[in-house]
Amino acid sequence: MRKMSSAPRPILNIVAALIALAPVALISSAKAAECPRKDALGTSRVLEVDPATYPRVGQKSFPQTLPLRDGEVVLTFDDGPTPGVTDKVLTALATECVQATFFMVGRNAADHPDMVRKIARLGHTIGYHTWDHPHLNKMPTDQAEANINRGIEAVQTALRGAASTVPSTPFFRFPYFESTPALLDRMEKRGIAVFGADFWASDWNKMTPEEELKLLTGRLEGHRKGIILLHDPQMRTAQMLPAFLRYLQEHNYHIVHIVPAAMKTVSDRTH
Ligand SMILES: [Zn+2]
Repeated sequence: MRKMSSAPRPILNIVAALIALAPVALISSAKAAECPRKDALGTSRVLEVDPATYPRVGQKSFPQTLPLRDGEVVLTFDDGPTPGVTDKVLTALATECVQATFFMVGRNAADHPDMVRKIARLGHTIGYHTWDHPHLNKMPTDQAEANINRGIEAVQTALRGAASTVPSTPFFRFPYFESTPALLDRMEKRGIAVFGADFWASDWNKMTPEEELKLLTGRLEGHRKGIILLHDPQMRTAQMLPAFLRYLQEHNYHIVHIVPAAMKTVSDRTH
């Protein structure tokens, strides 16, 4: 630091400009500035996921997962959006200045397009989870892909006002993790990353929010990091979430926000 302070001012200016231009630094400082609470958990970093490098992630289903460090978790929420419950989840995330990923069911997106736009506006990542959550492995491949596409179209219509089978974010999750080799192959050829999970809260089972918190934190201590699967339409999860986020903060865990790798290109072009 002493050396820098004796450097001529133009060099200092160049150094400052280079630091400011780093996309991740920009995002981090913007988030820190936006967060009204000083002791909030916050989003520690943004991880760009390129489907070419990570076509399938989540060790519950696949051998590979995201390159997370010890203590780093990615929050993912499936099956919404659902008014009244997803809102609670969004409030809990906003209170802690945390970004997550929502794998949406197309039918729900079509019913609640305003919620799709709200989730996007809040800076969360949007993923796709079929039209109506069927057992894709029990239907012909073409029919299964048509259901996937209808889901993508519904979310795209909510987001962009026009149907498209090209997702804004190339992130997809199979309902019940029921993929088939043929469908995995098709997703890979389309450049869409398939998300499994590293662990979950089993929040589809009947339990109290307190029981869910205990289960989830116990699994977290076992894994130490990973992609966590939750369900935003589950009231028990919405009720548990504030305490879980506090737990993460108090136990020095870090939130990683995943975005498509293409966003880096957009950011670079901006500068
Ligand atoms: Zn689901």
